[in-house]
Amino acid sequence: MKSEDLSKFDKIVVKRLRELLVSRLKVTVGEGKQQVLEAASTFDNPDLNELVFALHRIEKGIYGQCVICRHDIPINVLEADLTARFCPSCQTAIHEKSDSSR
Ligand SMILES: [Zn+2]
Repeated sequence: MKSEDLSKFDKIVVKRLRELLVSRLKVTVGEGKQQVLEAASTFDNPDLNELVFALHRIEKGIYGQCVICRHDIPINVLEADLTARFCPSCQTAIHEKSDSSR
């Protein structure tokens, strides 16, 4: 992913984290990334954890990379699901696997 896309998603993820904290957890938090991250770290909430994990991946520059095949995940997939970790073809493979195990 290009660095301008990474910084774009960095802002979107921080904003989403803050929204969760404010609306769902009724936390008062400033708009700064550091403030949001600190507030999020005081909760053990899976949705928050996913977003914090996404931020770490943005910082490492590996956000938007499929964790299985390392291909880029399409931007529109990430926009729909900020915490997407798999490209569409791996996602499909995972679904097929879990369906057949039922
Ligand atoms: Zn993949």
